[in-house]
Parts: sequence; structure tokens; C-alpha cells
Amino acid sequence: MSANTTTTAVAPFSLKDFFKSFMLVELFKGMALTGRYTFRRKVTVQFPEEKTPLSPRFRGLHAQRRYENGEERCIACKLCEAICPAMAITIEAGPRQDDGSRRTTRYDIDLTKCIFCGFCEEACPVDAIVETQILEYHGEKRGDLYFTKDMLLAVGDKFEPEIAAAKAADAKYR
Ligand code: SF4
Ligand code: SF4
Repeated sequence: MSANTTTTAVAPFSLKDFFKSFMLVELFKGMALTGRYTFRRKVTVQFPEEKTPLSPRFRGLHAQRRYENGEERCIACKLCEAICPAMAITIEAGPRQDDGSRRTTRYDIDLTKCIFCGFCEEACPVDAIVETQILEYHGEKRGDLYFTKDMLLAVGDKFEPEIAAAKAADAKYR
């Protein structure tokens, strides 16, 4: 087609559409819909004052758990690191000085990489790494979302009752 030739598509004229537009039918339909919902029960939640229930499987902030005697659960098997699709987990391990048992000397999760898929939790044979129901956290700079082993253990220590309750609620479906 030459540069000077232009084609304009003309929509076919519809008398029905013309009258619908002329009589503001769509506008009144919209207003009727709004009117129907005006007096119904409101479903909008005023977050953060109001909160919706969370599933026990909700995948929020990570935590490292301990056994009741205070021993950390993680055995440094590195399955979580291997399965993490975002390569967000970094683990270094070695024998512990006290008893020679294999433990992590470094366990970091970069939450700026994490896609909260839950694979690390699924892979862990001892329920050490978990994703909690904590969703209200933030970082003001990139480094704030780099969680070290101590930070993860601190989250676990603080929220262990909630973590254990969520695990128990979900146990029958696993
Ligand atoms: S939730 Fe997924 S992406 Fe995040 S650390 Fe675990 S395995 Fe990696
Ligand atoms: S958190 Fe679980 S899967 Fe990851 S290294 Fe520790 S024991 Fe293994």
C-alpha cells in the first residue's frame, strides 16, 4: 500500500445501539447494580484494623524452629537450599564444637529473592524452616530483608506457639 493511501474502518450503524445509547440504558443498568449492593452486607475489610482469617498454610515470613529442649531443629542437610527455585537460601555447615553434630554455621535467606513458594518448608525433613503467618513486615533498605540464622531463630522463638498451632491444624491434610 502506498504511503498516501489510507483506509478507515466504519462500524456498521445499529439502530438498537443508537437507542440504547440515547436512552442511557447502560448508565441506568450500572446505577441499578450499585443500588442493589448499597444495602447488602459489606464485604470490604478495613485493613489493618480488621483482618481476614489466614489459612494454616499461609506462606509469610520465614522462621527457624527449635525443639522443646531448645535444640535447633535444622540438621544442615541443605535440602531447602537445593530445592529453592530462587536460590535465596545460603547455607554453610560443619560439625558443632560441643558434640560434633552437623549444624549450620550460616543460614541466610534473601527475602528480596524469595518468591514464597514454600518449597523449602516442604523439603525440610525436620520441620525446621517454616513460613509463618506473619505478613506485616517490611525493610527500608535491601539489607533489611536479608535474614540471617539468628534472625530466623528469633522469629521462630517468638512465634513458636502460633507456628505449632498452624502445623497441627494442617497435619491431617498432609
Ligand atoms: S519460599 Fe521458595 S523461594 Fe522462598 S526461600 Fe523457600 S524455597 Fe526459596
Ligand atoms: S532447614 Fe531443613 S531442609 Fe534446610 S538445611 Fe535445615 S534441616 Fe535441611
